[in-house]
Amino acid sequence: MRILVVEDEKKLATFLKRALKEKGYAVDVAHDGAEGLFLAQENPYDLIILDIMLPEKNGLAVCQELRKEEKAVPILMLTARDDVEDKISGLDSGADDYLTKPFSYGEFLARVRALIRRHRDRKTPVLRVADLELNQLTHKAQRAGKDIELTSTEYALLEYLLLNANQIVTRTMISEHVWNDQFDSYSNVINVYLNYLRKKVDEGFDQKLIHSVRGSGYILKEPS
Ligand code: CA
Repeated sequence: MRILVVEDEKKLATFLKRALKEKGYAVDVAHDGAEGLFLAQENPYDLIILDIMLPEKNGLAVCQELRKEEKAVPILMLTARDDVEDKISGLDSGADDYLTKPFSYGEFLARVRALIRRHRDRKTPVLRVADLELNQLTHKAQRAGKDIELTSTEYALLEYLLLNANQIVTRTMISEHVWNDQFDSYSNVINVYLNYLRKKVDEGFDQKLIHSVRGSGYILKEPS
């Protein structure tokens, strides 16, 4: 487990580093936002502890930038005072949790453990069938390592097919799970979207993954 601490107060940074090291974490420290952002972009951290008030680039900007790059690393923000506005902006910018200074050593370590655990539990958001992959966190799809561009409806449809891989899904199931509103499952819309999706997923590949099942619906399955 490797943690990045971005904190410009040297004494606090040193204290946090020592506390975390004692618990067996590997720790890197950055003393300003620009350095912190650079390290976070270069290294696969399990957690980032990010102060808000930082020289060069503040913690909110660092956090936003990382989320824009689809870095899913958990971020614990440190706020200087018990300022509700700060907390809201922190969470809005993509932080997972915040801690108000001054905080106790025990609470700090408990938050660290909780964030790492929570992240680990949701760490495998990738659905896979054969060489098709769909990341539920970033919504990126790939077949044989090549990106597939999906609209949000196509994404929802593919996710549903993958969650039910190797089973027939009926048009009614699709209309209930992929389209939320009242939706006429006899309309042509599902067919149309399924055809878009088959084109994107299967065209150019010998082994087709998405099949229609006459009279029943569709199935996404491992090639036999
Ligand atoms: Ca600071």
